[in-house]
Amino acid sequence: MIDFFEFQLRPRVLYKAGLVDDIGPEIANLGAQRALIVADEGVARAGLLDRVRAGLERSITVAGIFAEAPPNSSVAAVARGADYARECGADLIVAVGGGSPIDTAKAMRILLTEGGRLHDYEGYNLLTRSLTPMIAIPTTAGTGSEVTAWAVIRDEVARMKLAFSSIYLAPDLAILDPEMTLSLPPGLTAATGIDALVHAIESFVGSNANPISDSLALQAIDMISNNLRDATYDGSDIEPRGQMLIASCIAGMAFSGGGGSLGIVHALAHAIGGAFETHHGTANAILLPYGMQFNSVAVPNRFARIARAMGVNSGGRSEEDVIADGIRCRCAGRRLAGDRRDRPRRRGALCQPTPGDLRRRAGDRPRRMVTRHGDTEHCVSVSPCLVSEAPYLPPLTQRSYYRAISQVEMCSWVGIPHSSAWIAVRD
Ligand SMILES: [Zn+2]
Repeated sequence: MIDFFEFQLRPRVLYKAGLVDDIGPEIANLGAQRALIVADEGVARAGLLDRVRAGLERSITVAGIFAEAPPNSSVAAVARGADYARECGADLIVAVGGGSPIDTAKAMRILLTEGGRLHDYEGYNLLTRSLTPMIAIPTTAGTGSEVTAWAVIRDEVARMKLAFSSIYLAPDLAILDPEMTLSLPPGLTAATGIDALVHAIESFVGSNANPISDSLALQAIDMISNNLRDATYDGSDIEPRGQMLIASCIAGMAFSGGGGSLGIVHALAHAIGGAFETHHGTANAILLPYGMQFNSVAVPNRFARIARAMGVNSGGRSEEDVIADGIRCRCAGRRLAGDRRDRPRRRGALCQPTPGDLRRRAGDRPRRMVTRHGDTEHCVSVSPCLVSEAPYLPPLTQRSYYRAISQVEMCSWVGIPHSSAWIAVRD
């Protein structure tokens, strides 16, 4: 029975291949005169900013380009970007890139409008008025940040991620142009695509799920399952690129509009990213099968529906059978997350760290730190299976949870940026 739910969406969304070349008429509605483009080095190197700049200059002045967003957006980068925006006299922020430039731009607007320290606005609904207008142009299909009311910023000093949530953080306009994703390399296509999949899965099984977020999440899971491999292996094909871009946007709407927080996979991915700067999508890819196993105890019927949305063949078994034992949900997790037998065996590749490895590399400290941050991270609060209940779960599930943490730590130490997500989309 549904007692209450909330669902809200902010940005206007436009989709069209080649749209960035002709965004002038859309900008006129925002009433801005001087735009600051926020991006990262990779986007600048790929030459994507020239196109955006030319498109903007058909109707507005481009006051400057801040292409210094780090791979994990940081408090220092946000402060530098906000200072630069003030110097330029910018009254519109145009973020071009993946989650980091878009989140950096979102947080810069807090400092531009409210001033003070960024930390003062960490948390839920601490903003009370509209911020500097913003357009988001994603160049990855993963974060959905172009339509979410969230920004996640790394505090380099505390080595943890800060989460900001307010409807005012959402951009005013999201431009989905699949041509902007064509140059994304396969590893990043895979890693960011898995991030979108995890957004959809966690919003579907989380305690904030409602009928609207459910319909969005299942649609996203269907589209990602059908297009992630193609987008990864033939990045020049505009069709799967476009499908992934739309799916990632829909998955972003599912979790943001439905109340925000995600679940155990994101809680740990945030904690691990804060501690080790592991790529967010890669951390999610490694953690996903463990998170599914961990949560399947609590909501097996939801995982059976996810399996069906992924196109898992129930093999002639009745729906009740599939739901009853939850086997198919685990199959679905393996199908995208890769079977252990397929994992590379070469030295330094994704192999299980031994206790000796862990001790040699950093003792117990990183694992304790990640576990502590992960257990208290905001996303944990809506995970269907609470970490506080872990001692009462079957021992296998507990072991999986901690094994997953070890595995991501290991990846960070040996410096494997995207291989796990690569495996995740292997046929
Ligand atoms: Zn994510």
